[in-house]
Amino acid sequence: MDLGPHPSPLPGGEGAEQLPSPPGRGAGGEGRLGVFGGTFDPPHYGHLAIAEEAAEQLGLPRVLFAPTGQPPHKPGAPVTAAAHRVRMTALAIADNPRFELSCVDVERPGPSYTVELLALLHAEYGAATELYFICGMDMLASFLTWHEPAQIIARCQLVAVTRPGYAAVDVAALEAALPAARGRIHLLRAPGLDISGTELRARVAAGRSIRYLVPPVVAAYIAEHVLYRRDAWA
Ligand code: ATP
Repeated sequence: MDLGPHPSPLPGGEGAEQLPSPPGRGAGGEGRLGVFGGTFDPPHYGHLAIAEEAAEQLGLPRVLFAPTGQPPHKPGAPVTAAAHRVRMTALAIADNPRFELSCVDVERPGPSYTVELLALLHAEYGAATELYFICGMDMLASFLTWHEPAQIIARCQLVAVTRPGYAAVDVAALEAALPAARGRIHLLRAPGLDISGTELRARVAAGRSIRYLVPPVVAAYIAEHVLYRRDAWA
């Protein structure tokens, strides 16, 4: 678990940077789609809280949770079978009418590049759909190393949410390095929940409780399928 410093204040002071309503969109947010990609190994309350916060602050009627196939930023790291991660994600979001599961990423071969996920979603939902890709501040910090960042930012608005232990990224510096990103990267403040998949897997392996860190249905699934146990990694 990262016990580093708390995020520095976000530009613009308290609360979220307000996004202007995209032209031609109704007040109800039609045409806006939140996209939340992640390993979700397992999905936890940190994920759910930032997706809810982004949906509320940006007026997104829907947020798609898209579990990754093979995450390119975790090469060689053992990732639980996609079928388990998809089922846990479905269970975790089931009680939120705004949240939906998307399997486009797990259903295609090769590394899960965000740029390809966004292209597939534009093909599915229409090129005019305004995609808001949600990520944690830790991910934004490495944005320039993602596969084809210029193409990504052309396809979506990037929404980075505060995460305990990670300082707010300097958006002006990012925009200077990637001018196409100007005005398309947004920082949101969310309630800080210092939870990570890494820590949850370690807790289960050590026989420790994950109660109040993941939804009860996810904890029950992990127990039933004996996931993350030390003997299961052998
Ligand atoms: P791991 O520890 O296995 O790397 P993780 O908990 O960081 O997993 P991922 O599924 O890899 O979760 O993350 C999906 C997205 O959610 C990423 O953009 C990540 O930054 C963000 N995220 C995960 N946990 C939090 C949290 N507690 N607060 C804010 N953002 C988070």
